[in-house]
Amino acid sequence: MLKDQRRRFWNPRIETMSSNKMRDLQMAKLKTQLIYNYENSLFYRKKFEEAVIKPKDIRTPEDFQHIPLTNKDEQRKAQEESIENFGHPYGPDTITCAPIEKIIRINSTSGTTGAPTLYTLTQHDIDLVNELNGRRFWMAGIRPGHVILQAMSLSMFVGGVPLSQGIMHAGACVVPVGVEGGTKRVLDFIKLTAPVAIFATPSFGLYLIEQCPKLIGKDSRDLGIKWFFTAGEPGGGNPEVRKLLSQGFGGARIFDHTGGGHAFAGATCDESPELYSGMHFMSGDYCLLELVNPETKKPVEVEDGAVGELVLTSLDWEGGPFMRYAYGDLIQVFTTPCNCGRTGLKFKIIGRADDMLIVKGVNVYPEAIRRAILTFSPEVTGFYKILLDKPGPLVTPPLKIKIEYSSAVEEKSIPALEKRILRHFKENLRVSPKFIWVSQGSIPRETKKTKFIELEQKG
Ligand SMILES: [Zn+2]
Repeated sequence: MLKDQRRRFWNPRIETMSSNKMRDLQMAKLKTQLIYNYENSLFYRKKFEEAVIKPKDIRTPEDFQHIPLTNKDEQRKAQEESIENFGHPYGPDTITCAPIEKIIRINSTSGTTGAPTLYTLTQHDIDLVNELNGRRFWMAGIRPGHVILQAMSLSMFVGGVPLSQGIMHAGACVVPVGVEGGTKRVLDFIKLTAPVAIFATPSFGLYLIEQCPKLIGKDSRDLGIKWFFTAGEPGGGNPEVRKLLSQGFGGARIFDHTGGGHAFAGATCDESPELYSGMHFMSGDYCLLELVNPETKKPVEVEDGAVGELVLTSLDWEGGPFMRYAYGDLIQVFTTPCNCGRTGLKFKIIGRADDMLIVKGVNVYPEAIRRAILTFSPEVTGFYKILLDKPGPLVTPPLKIKIEYSSAVEEKSIPALEKRILRHFKENLRVSPKFIWVSQGSIPRETKKTKFIELEQKG
């Protein structure tokens, strides 16, 4: 269906729905979904039995919170057991509810923290993901006629086929080049297809800016890029990274996305882009969002400024719905209305619950470290690694950080620079790291998800 190009919202009814109406809609959908989960998945039936509750007994959000959480480890284990027992990972004792004949797409997480967990989708679920992408790209101002070059990891990850389909569904034109072919190919296709928008991880975006003159003899500011969509890493929510990307692409507007392979979708709008006020939660009608304390797993009230681990429940999903699925992301939610007119929550991703480091009792997140380092750009490149002797979260002080100084900085001025950075770290993060300085380009650039933590091999 071709939308009127002047329309402000892709789905005005949902995107501007009052919070009371949204809550009623969610509860109505939740009841139907819970009956479906109970009847079609032994994995979920056991969760109800554990809580000694039946789907029909759940009338309020509080009732629902009696159901135990699910996490990735449990899903992984269920997948493995199903392969042993049934020869495939979609058996009755997994979160997959739809019969295998109805499942037409499998996506997965990238598995950076263990074996990948699978998303199973029916045609209905794919239509739903497309709808959510329509909302997100429309919000950014993408319209038919716009060409978006997709430089995320293609293949089966959520940044791949689902995203390509979502861009097409929004009516725009996708160039699914993918990062796998290498930086040169991405830049060649930018030259060849003249996109107005790029979709990539923020770190790959910064790398493109650096490599552009070398590889295709052009300044990245002259590529004609008006939109830069970030996902896959929290950098798109970092004001300094946003500034560098925008400047590097000649004033491009930066839009941050998260989710997208499932019923969870978040994206920034175009209000106060330089401040970054968080992403709109774009899928309230398809996904119930809860917060829990990352350590005790007890519910945290979803109110303005609250911080907690994200827990998701699919509300209209056939394949493998999530039910109180603890995602591992720590987020902060905001309820103040946005000038763009969209109602509903906004949120910022604070970090991965399992990325958290504890130095002398202080919680530190890799993204916060990057933000602190980038404050000193352009004297530093922003590329860094946290060096650990053993896996976190407990770090024996000092916290060791390998950091790149930029080629414009002379080696003799590093001690003075380090002094300023140390002071900034002490004041803002309450840690005093030991910095190991390396020259520009020493830290390998990663085109997929950047790993900020490196385990040092002990001889
Ligand atoms: Zn907004």
